[in-house]
Amino acid sequence: MTTEIRTRYAPSPTGYLHVGGLRTALYNYLFAHGHGGKLLLRVEDTDRTRLVEGAVENFLDIFNWLGITFDESPKVGGPHAPYVQSERLSLYVAATKRLAEDGHAYPCFCSSERLDQVRAEQQAASKPPMYDRHCRELSKSDSFARIAAGEPHVWRMAVPVNEVVEIDDLIRGKVSFETATIDDQVLMKSDGFPTYHLANVVDDHDMRISHVIRGEEWLPSTPKHVLLYRFFGWEPPRFAHLPLLLNPDRSKMSKRSGDVAVEAYRDKGILPEALLNFVALLGWHPQDEREFFTLRELVKEFSLDRVNKAGAVFDQAKLKWMNTEYVARLSSEDIWNGVAPLLPESLLDEANSRVRYAVESLRPGAESYADLSGKVVEAFSVPDDKLDAWDDAQLALVGDVADALAALPAAQWNDFEALIASFKSAANVAGANRGLKGKGIWMTLRMAMTGREHGPELGRLIGMWGREGTLNRLHGAVAKRLSSESRA
Ligand code: GLU
Repeated sequence: MTTEIRTRYAPSPTGYLHVGGLRTALYNYLFAHGHGGKLLLRVEDTDRTRLVEGAVENFLDIFNWLGITFDESPKVGGPHAPYVQSERLSLYVAATKRLAEDGHAYPCFCSSERLDQVRAEQQAASKPPMYDRHCRELSKSDSFARIAAGEPHVWRMAVPVNEVVEIDDLIRGKVSFETATIDDQVLMKSDGFPTYHLANVVDDHDMRISHVIRGEEWLPSTPKHVLLYRFFGWEPPRFAHLPLLLNPDRSKMSKRSGDVAVEAYRDKGILPEALLNFVALLGWHPQDEREFFTLRELVKEFSLDRVNKAGAVFDQAKLKWMNTEYVARLSSEDIWNGVAPLLPESLLDEANSRVRYAVESLRPGAESYADLSGKVVEAFSVPDDKLDAWDDAQLALVGDVADALAALPAAQWNDFEALIASFKSAANVAGANRGLKGKGIWMTLRMAMTGREHGPELGRLIGMWGREGTLNRLHGAVAKRLSSESRA
């Protein structure tokens, strides 16, 4: 009996990390850690035609960014190393031999042309495509003679006829399969590599996996695995098949309605904590209405019996909302550290007090570091000329405010709160002198300094720009207005 809880994440290195793969890895992590167990990473690279260079490094890099660690892996090693299937081939060869000796596996010499033909005939007769067991009838001596003569062959599992294989899935409950619907699966290919099915079972047993938690798409493979455990005389692990991820229209999640690669969310500025929190809720729900969880809290709360059977909708808008909430909760220092690397050098100086003030002032509602850095850059950009419709009172107002601000003591420019108050009173006094009020004052000054009708609070903007930046904008607006008048 396996007593220790041991789970695994077993990706095939065929490209990027899919958000569904992240959910699988996360649930395995939460389940293992919640039970004082271990999570291991195993690379399933036996399909040599689908390998993508650098895929494993990319996975590790993303898990590192997310703070998901593996207790055993190709990188950190462990008692069951190697954790890469292509380095474990002798185990699969020995397993095949054992199955063959016990009559649970047989060699198949059928050419791909023959298999295609069988499949075409089955299709024409509206039958499910399955191997017709042609080589299962060969005598042992015949097949060994053919192997000895060097004839290419694969090894297939001899699925028992007319039985029912039952699985007690931790999420889906009892699921049964008639063996008549189970193909004589290839276990060992002619290139000497095992198929996923054989390698997966041999390794899960060898690595003492207690719980296999994986996507629902693997459920149809599970009866084959259960049979293999039986053939070997091994106790199978417990299985838990996670619900599919769906688009909002309930179709299977695909690139069509948004990104499926985790790295795309990282590149978009989604915070790792927000992504983990969001992904944790794709199919699992807590006991109460809570929505925000740290990884640590998830470890405490998570349980497989609160994972749904029904598909889970991946709602991009909710992820964006959740990220905005996480950004809002960041400390000033964290948000600065996230945004500063995205800002142009021209905005940074030694003290960075103004640009830090800009980051703090503009952060409410920011969706991500990238979004916030864009807002900062925009706040510092120089306005377009949109002053054509100004009258003389507006022109005079801008000049007066510029004069009043120029006269402020230098220290005021570094006291952002006092500056806002001085600016407001200067604007109100100038407005009263020029017969303007309310919107007439503020809209004029905003257009003069930003070229836009809407934007962040003006008093804060002038704090961000400082004396020179503010006066340049005000004087520039007056100059533009005068030169357009002289042109007219
Ligand atoms: N290598 C399989 C995959 O790419 C693993 C499936 C399993 O967890 O058994 O998803």
